[in-house]
Amino acid sequence: MANGGCHAGADAMQDAARKAGKSEILDQFAKDYPVGPHDKPQSMCPAFGSLRVGLRMRRVATVLSGSACCVYGLTFVSHFYGARRSVGYVPFNSESLVTGKLFEDIRDSVYDMADHERYDAIVVTNLCVPTASGVPLRLLPKEIDGVRIIGIDVPGFGIPTHAEAKDVLAGAMLAYAREEVKAGPVPAPVGGKSDRPTVTMLGEMFPADPVMIGAMLAPMGLAAGPVVPCREWREMYSALDCGAVAAIHPFYSAAMREFDAAGRPIVGSAPVGHDGTAAWLSGIGDAFNLPADKVAEAQNAFLPAIKSALAANPVKGTITLSGYEGSELIVARLLIEAGADIPYVGTACQKTPMSAADCEWLEAKGVKVKFRASLEDDCAAMEAIKPDLAIGTTPVVQKGKQLGIPSLYFTNLISARPLMGPAGAGGLAPVINAAMGNKDRMGKMKFFFEGVGAGDTAGVWEGAPNLQPDFKAVRQKKLDKAARAAKAQEMI
Ligand code: SF4
Repeated sequence: MANGGCHAGADAMQDAARKAGKSEILDQFAKDYPVGPHDKPQSMCPAFGSLRVGLRMRRVATVLSGSACCVYGLTFVSHFYGARRSVGYVPFNSESLVTGKLFEDIRDSVYDMADHERYDAIVVTNLCVPTASGVPLRLLPKEIDGVRIIGIDVPGFGIPTHAEAKDVLAGAMLAYAREEVKAGPVPAPVGGKSDRPTVTMLGEMFPADPVMIGAMLAPMGLAAGPVVPCREWREMYSALDCGAVAAIHPFYSAAMREFDAAGRPIVGSAPVGHDGTAAWLSGIGDAFNLPADKVAEAQNAFLPAIKSALAANPVKGTITLSGYEGSELIVARLLIEAGADIPYVGTACQKTPMSAADCEWLEAKGVKVKFRASLEDDCAAMEAIKPDLAIGTTPVVQKGKQLGIPSLYFTNLISARPLMGPAGAGGLAPVINAAMGNKDRMGKMKFFFEGVGAGDTAGVWEGAPNLQPDFKAVRQKKLDKAARAAKAQEMI
């Protein structure tokens, strides 16, 4: 992690980036991803989101420009999640950064890589330091040897979550594809064009979910279109060619701007649970101006099955739910319909018009919904509520387990399951109920580890832990003084 960026000095980095000519993009980020109580990432580096989107696309190469430590972390996590291909890296030093040589090195590297036999596109990403230094990726050629070149800035001091960084790349690619569509004919989808109007879906989903959505759209004479972020370049054209967009994940502000510009209506929420599916199908019907009987046909075909699946797979217990994927609200809806009591839902993403319906539904059920929730918010809710199950990010889960509360990691265990339609209605209960059934075991573990210490006294000590309260007090005084000086500086 570089100085600044994720752990400190975000204001200084912002300031430097503005002075280096990046004001426009930072203002756009502030509009697209307004920050909340936590104005710096509390999860992994946001650039992981856009990097992953690029790495999952066929015939797309990704190149990072950033500090070596950031690139090391990002490539490590990419391979941990099975990237199975190389991440390009253009290194720099202080000299190449300040003289502008870094930009030339990046340009040389994309010229070296651009080969239309291998790639449809090359994505170059400025991480924190090159963004703050104003490395002008927009000056890269738009195309080399038939390969599209896409330069994006994804700084931790401008993009609050890795979920929203996915939108940065998805939006940049859609913008590029839209210009191509305007300029003339573009290649048709590999599997041919659907003979029915399509619904493009926004947000990464479990692979069975788009299939389920397609089945629910069929009675209305519609078909499921591509999922954005796409898996290959030409899907982008089909995505733009849809009749309407389903913002299954509501935080894709830049992508929605492109769909708006292409004149496509956007429908919020998702077909989760009974109420969610009923409302979503009717929203889709409105977007396509379908007669009420068509919508009713789809509702009648699926709602009874959803109701039975929910009844057959009840969830009983109190759950706190939080995460940074952006799908927290729809998961909470589904669990409440299955019978769970959920007093608190926290999402690290911002509120958008597309999350309004889910938020209203949850609030009407007495749920406290917190957008841009910080880790501290999520932990405080869990500690106050003492639920039967805490669903959250890694540090929330860790804290939950320390308290003897059964806890599940949202990203790996909840968002990696089907959620939509009848499949989703029965899909979550087994894992949730199994976790809640572990309460006794959690209690035994808590008992087993009792007395091993916590924080800086955790672990096995040969003697008494070597505490240094005087040193800590002096250090705290210095930190307080530095904070006061910084505050005074701000007021000058
Ligand atoms: S690029 Fe990512 S890891 Fe590096 S400083 Fe920025 S936020 Fe942190």
